[in-house]
Amino acid sequence: MTTTTTTDAPALTPESARRDELEQRASSLTIPSRLFIDGAHVDATSGRTFARVSPRNGQVIGHVAEGDAADIDRAVAAARRAFDSGVWSQQHPRERRKVLQRLARLVEEHAEELALLESIDMGKPFTDAVAVDIRVTVQALDFYAEAVDKHYDEVAPTAYDRLALVTREPIGVVGAVVPWNYPLMMAAWKVAPALAVGNTMVLKPAEQSPLTALRLAELATEAGLPDGVLNVVPGFGPTAGQALGRHMDVDAVTFTGSGSVGRRFMTYAAESNIKPVSLELGGKSPHIVMPDAPDLDHVAAQVASGIFFNMGESCSAGSRLLVHRSIRHELVERVVAASRHEVVGDPLDPRSTLGALVEDVHLERVLGFIAGAEAEGATTLAGGRQVLRETGGYYVEPTVLEVEPSMTVAREEVFGPVLSVLTFDTPEEAVALANGTEFGLAAAVWTTDLSTAHTMARRVRAGTVWVNCYDDSDMTVPFGGYKQSGFGRDKSLHAMEKYTQLKTTWIKL
Ligand code: NDP
Repeated sequence: MTTTTTTDAPALTPESARRDELEQRASSLTIPSRLFIDGAHVDATSGRTFARVSPRNGQVIGHVAEGDAADIDRAVAAARRAFDSGVWSQQHPRERRKVLQRLARLVEEHAEELALLESIDMGKPFTDAVAVDIRVTVQALDFYAEAVDKHYDEVAPTAYDRLALVTREPIGVVGAVVPWNYPLMMAAWKVAPALAVGNTMVLKPAEQSPLTALRLAELATEAGLPDGVLNVVPGFGPTAGQALGRHMDVDAVTFTGSGSVGRRFMTYAAESNIKPVSLELGGKSPHIVMPDAPDLDHVAAQVASGIFFNMGESCSAGSRLLVHRSIRHELVERVVAASRHEVVGDPLDPRSTLGALVEDVHLERVLGFIAGAEAEGATTLAGGRQVLRETGGYYVEPTVLEVEPSMTVAREEVFGPVLSVLTFDTPEEAVALANGTEFGLAAAVWTTDLSTAHTMARRVRAGTVWVNCYDDSDMTVPFGGYKQSGFGRDKSLHAMEKYTQLKTTWIKL
């Protein structure tokens, strides 16, 4: 593993020059700082703000208005007015398509600015923010824009003198609560389908990463989205998040984050207006590497990127490597070598493949998992330490641990660059291990045997099963979990289902 530093470029290379250029641009960015309600920037009712500390160096980059229940009330009222007015919900779908497409183009035009905001706000490498977060955000906006005026409703088979229409209507005011790991992209996965079908929204970004959501709302207004249709209220979970979850005038909630908060949203819904809730709650996704796996160099590279990309702060991170005993040594050696090629460093440095963890509390949590694993008897094969402490940022080495299935680190979501290696002898054992956690978000099977691939894919209880690849995806396919990884799907045409409700209109002719 190589590290680069945050402040001192060792020599003037094209990469260090680019880092300096990005740092310069980052320092001259306008940091969004106010709530966005009814098409306007407003302060929090309480007047309070909270500091945004950049995980790359622990320094304050700005202060953001701290919305709470009073601001959620204002935002929901604006969203309700906008919905009831029909200014968006009753627009011709073709017009909604145009606005979303204009927004997609504006996001493209502001790609560097948005990627910089994301990078300094939550610590991911700028290059990844451009290549993944911004690109996928644009894809989501384009996909749902394209879909919305090509989606037909149904006419049911009935008796000759009856006509039954089954139509989908927007559900109303949607509350979206999103996490900090892919702030803009997670927002887009929810905002794009929800707006496309005619809803209005209140979006609460995570306190660790509110900047791009605020910018998205501004760009949406520039794209022609009517006031009040998309409102963004940064604030804290127990105040703003809870107020949204419990609001009597919110018609549906879509949430991505931890299981414990997901449970709370179900309680909020049960104790308020029984609003439908959809939850995407993370995972402990396994790679199952069979003895006939193709090209172990390639498998190792995919295993490494599957866990180290985005510093392991991905719900679908491939955090468990289940490897057949006959190839264990060969494969693990390669994965460890791949981990040593990762470069941990300043997110703005193009050489960095891992940036900083999102915040100091999370850094301690990840280090706690590693220390706990070692105390339980795990063997550290690579990494395991905090690095670049002198920068003031929150950096951890890519870490590979040899573990037993009963250990905490083998069962719980670390949400950091920590891979747990387990060994199996039979396919049955592999399936039992794969299914042996509370999660069921994703998995991968590595084999050259078609029958093994299909059989394994059927037996693993996960929302996505990759065969001979990892994290390959497209906007066309649904994403979401089995078991305690949640329910409801983001992406694909299926995502539109949770933002609409079915109406039957039965006519006697
Ligand atoms: P949380 O689930 O706490 O946060 C996700 C969102 O929920 C944030 O917007 C947060 O607001 C909000 N929230 C927090 N508490 C409440 C509450 N009581 N009522 C309503 N909303 C609330 O995730 P964390 O940031 O704490 O991360 C902890 C762990 O969760 C991670 O280590 C990881 O294991 C998992 N996680 C999974 C994610 C996924 O993609 N599935 C994403 C993020 C985390 P705020 O942060 O502003 O308080």
